[in-house]
Amino acid sequence: MKISNVEFVISAVRPNQYPDDALPEFALAGRSNVGKSSLINRMINRKGLARTSSQPGKTQQLNYYRVNDRVYLVDFPGYGYAKVSKVQRQQFGEMIETYLSEREPLKMVLHIIDIRHAPSKDDVLMYDWLKHYGIPVCVVTTKADKIPKSQWPKHVKIVKEALGFRPTDRHVLFSSETGLGRDELWAVMEGMIAE
Ligand code: GDP
Repeated sequence: MKISNVEFVISAVRPNQYPDDALPEFALAGRSNVGKSSLINRMINRKGLARTSSQPGKTQQLNYYRVNDRVYLVDFPGYGYAKVSKVQRQQFGEMIETYLSEREPLKMVLHIIDIRHAPSKDDVLMYDWLKHYGIPVCVVTTKADKIPKSQWPKHVKIVKEALGFRPTDRHVLFSSETGLGRDELWAVMEGMIAE
């Protein structure tokens, strides 16, 4: 997709702050440091718009980016950061649960996983959660440039098996470094908008 216009709209902490123009939304979930900000920046061709979380897990907010006045990318807080307090963990749970269960314009969650490692317990919980709410998921295995191409299939298999990946979901191999998977991921999203 050719990006002509990207706007950071809001860091929303409450549902009444979510945009009300009903554009389709794609949310991005992943553990802290998985490469979510880098992926967003690569998708929108802007180096520094999505900010690398300097204090992982601190702020429980949904960051809304409007792309081409057509679609929102919604950045979830990174999860699985060890130093997060119990209260923050609970806030995260409540916010995401409300969003997943009630957000009408949500089309799909892009679930970002580091291709190099087997999914963590939190990754598996997140995927189960998404499936519990019947949300279509695209599992995006990122940082693909960090392992040789010959090892991609083995690693993808490990990720899919650990998650209990549903064949009805989608999967895209990605690298924010090289741009691998960028066009494919936009095509997956375009397909969901057209449905
Ligand atoms: P976030 O906390 O999930 O937003 O993660 P960041 O986007 O800040 O990325 C965490 C670290 O991984 C940074 O040092 C990035 O430069 C690096 N990184 C992210 N994606 C990739 C990738 O696809 N390839 C490589 N080689 N490094 C990446």
